[in-house]
Amino acid sequence: MAEVWDVVCGMRGDPDRWTSMVEYRGKRYYFCCDGCKGAFQRSPEYHLENFAQEHRGADPNPAGR
Ligand SMILES: [Zn+2]
Repeated sequence: MAEVWDVVCGMRGDPDRWTSMVEYRGKRYYFCCDGCKGAFQRSPEYHLENFAQEHRGADPNPAGR
């Protein structure tokens, strides 16, 4: 099972259990809760950049689900 990352709070999780999802630029991002989802929707670029800096080389959705 490929885990996904919540790019807002940094949690890892199972995309089958996380119901909060956003499609952004053709890619799906999963979130642990609607709070994180809302934060991402307000400033997606900010959170993607932050995530990339904190987790070098990590793909938030490696299986592309
Ligand atoms: Zn979260």
